[in-house]
Parts: sequence; C-alpha cells; structure tokens
Amino acid sequence: MALIVQKYGGTSVGTVERIQGVAQKVKGFREQGHDVVVVVSAMSGETNRLIGMANEISQRPVPREMDVLVSTGEQVTIALLAMALTELGCAAKSYTGGQVRIHTDSAHTKARIQAIDDENMRADLKAGRVVIVAGFQGMDDNNNITTLGRGGSDTTAVALAAALKADECQIYTDVDGVYTTDPRVVESARRLSKITFEEMLEMASLGSKVLQIRSVEFAGKYNVPLRVLSTFEDGPGTLITTEELDSMEQPVISGIAFNRDEAKLTLLGVPDVPGVAAKILAPVGAKNIEVDMIVQNVGADQTTDFTFTVHRNDVEAAYEVLEGVSKELGAREVRKDSKICKVSVVGVGMRSHAGVASQMFETLAAEGINIQMISTSEIKISVVVDEKYLELAVRSLHQAFELALEDAN
Ligand code: ADP
Ligand code: ASP
Ligand code: MG
Repeated sequence: MALIVQKYGGTSVGTVERIQGVAQKVKGFREQGHDVVVVVSAMSGETNRLIGMANEISQRPVPREMDVLVSTGEQVTIALLAMALTELGCAAKSYTGGQVRIHTDSAHTKARIQAIDDENMRADLKAGRVVIVAGFQGMDDNNNITTLGRGGSDTTAVALAAALKADECQIYTDVDGVYTTDPRVVESARRLSKITFEEMLEMASLGSKVLQIRSVEFAGKYNVPLRVLSTFEDGPGTLITTEELDSMEQPVISGIAFNRDEAKLTLLGVPDVPGVAAKILAPVGAKNIEVDMIVQNVGADQTTDFTFTVHRNDVEAAYEVLEGVSKELGAREVRKDSKICKVSVVGVGMRSHAGVASQMFETLAAEGINIQMISTSEIKISVVVDEKYLELAVRSLHQAFELALEDAN
C-alpha cells in the first residue's frame, strides 16, 4: 500500500466521459489499497478559451483578475471528478488550491508555491477518501487567488507529493512517457524508460512541454519520484531519476527539444566600447523582459552587432526599448524577427564525448539549414534557425544521433 499523487492533464479530463474514465482508473488504485491524491487540469482548451475572453475585453488584463478567471477551469474538473467517483461508490472530496491552503507568493499568473498545509488532505486520506485538488492555483497572504503559469498543474502535483512525502508522483497525459523528442513531430521518436532530472530539466527549459519546468525543479529538489504515463493505455511510462546510466549504456544525446516561442532582436552598428552590453540589456531587464540567448560580434569598423532572443510575447516591448537605446548609443538599425525557432540537443553523455557540436552543425549544414545563433552548456547545445526548418532540423538530428534505436534498458 502506497500514497500516490496522480495528475491528469487537460486531454485526460477533456470530456465528461473521460472524467468518468479517470474516476474508474482512480477507483482501481483505491481497490489495490493505495491512498490517492488526484490533481486535475482544466478540460483541454478551457484555459485558452478563458484567456481569449479576457483578451477580447482588455489588451492588458489586470493580473489579479486574470487569475480569478483562469483558475475557474480547474474548479470545474475537480467537482466533476468528485461526483464521478462518488457515483462509482468511491468516497472523494474536491479542494481548490486555496481550500487546501497551497500558499504562494503574490506574483499573479506566475506565482511560486511557498508552503502547503497537508492537514485537510491527511484527514481525508485517513477517512478513506480520495482527495481531489485543483491544479495550477494557490492563494497568497491576502487570500488572493494566484496561478502558477501555463502547465502549472504538474507543479501542483509534485509539490503535493513533496508535502505528503508520497511514494510516487504520477503525471498522466496523452502520451505514454517522455520521448527522445516530441512524438507528434518525429514519428520514430522513442519512449525513454528513464531520464535524469538534469536532462529532463534541460528538455523542459528548452521547450519540451510534457512537464512544466518548475515541476521538474521541485521534484529534483525534494527528491520526489516522478513518472510520466499515459491516461489511455497501461505501461511503465518514463521514470525521472537521479540515477545516471553507467557510461557504457549512456547515449551521448538523450533527447531533442525545440521551442517556437522565441523572437530575435538585433542592434546593428553599435559603437564597440566598454559597457555597451549592459546599456542595451539593462533597460530590457527593467521592463521585466527575460533575455535568453545573446550573440555579439565585432566588425572591422569598430562597431558591433548585438543580437539576443526573448519570448515572442515580449518582442514588441523589447523592440520599443531598443529603439530608444539605439538613438542613445548611435546604433545604425534595430531589427526584429519572430520567424525563428530554437532546436537543442540534450544529454549528460556529452560530458564525456567530444564532437557533438560538430556533428550537429554538419547535420544541419547537410540539410542546407543556416544557423543564426549558438549557445552551449555542459549538457546541451542549442541553435537558432529559421522557423520553416524546425521539423527538418529536428528529424535530421534525431536520425544523425540515432535516437530511434532501442535503449539499453
Ligand atoms: P497535459 O495536458 O496532459 O498536461 P501537455 O500537452 O502539457 O499534456 O504535454 C503532453 C504533450 O507534450 C504531448 O502530447 C507531446 O506532444 C508534448 N511533448 C513535447 N515534447 C515531448 C517529449 N519529449 N516527450 C513526450 N511528449 C512531448
Ligand atoms: N490549465 C492550465 C493550463 O492550461 C494548467 C495545466 O493544465 O497544467 O496551462
Ligand atoms: Mg501539461
């Protein structure tokens, strides 16, 4: 008998029938004698629908009200799932984030969990009830509803698992595990039986939305055993683990991530003097715009071109800032380009293997794909390329690094 926290994503609770299917599944775990806490997302499409309505009314909706609005999606699914379980004769009780007392900071729309009160949940479990918790939401010091950022139900589940010291946190979704790359883009993508936290964190940060980044951070920090599985078919899924494979088994590359959400900005012909980078990026940072990749190259004429990427949603705001900076620094021109994507290869095996970068660049060159920017860390290499090459780049890299082959375990 174990204590399991399970999270069911939007597709898994996308219709009333599917909610009834989830109830059957949860009941099965209860019958095996397990204590179960279930976290649910909103029905698929619902969060987008709510955001769409807000945007019809306001270009910049008040963040506090945005959270009041989008948190309703999960309130619907917790109640329906509790009803479905009750109909099956399985005692269950639903809780919003605030009712559990999932305490967060006040950063509306991207709040962080600070503490979780486990008292109510433990009392229900003891009384034999399934506890159902709304994902993605919490409450700040002043009882304002907060939300945790898109995909935040994963983080709710991991945080509850950490607070309850659960035996496992299971993320049920519409794919049967973590794959070498998004199986919707590369058909020959292969399910990984295991992946390290470190690699999963890179994959999530670099665009693989199968798990929210913070959920992986949380699981790593609090040592929560985390598994990704399919709601619709049985199978072992993928275990996220601290254990590394031994070096014989360790592939050089474990996966390929990609991200279509970035845009590139370039300041051309900036005088090449000390302090320029800070002068460009400080006002961007002051607008709360996060900068990802940065490239600076110096030309023969004592000027430099300064390029960086930001989230696509921030490109207009960043462009405005740069127009101001450009005048101040006497730069020649400001350019923006949203038709880019970032493709990254990830693997802890890179630490002990040379030549990954050259193999990556040769593969892209052979397909005629021009690399616009490059960044590397110990276990990843990312490139920015034209958006139209996204699928070709991912497929050819997947093949070049032989990721479709069976893994050793
Ligand atoms: P949920 O609604 O259950 O939270 P998400 O849509 O957030 O589901 O995450 C699951 C999706 O993540 C899959 O349908 C898949 O398209 C995508 N995905 C991206 N990269 C990967 C990967 N490496 N492995 C598995 N799925 C991936
Ligand atoms: N419903 C929220 C979203 O669509 C949270 C989640 O599903 O994890 O982002
Ligand atoms: Mg998700």
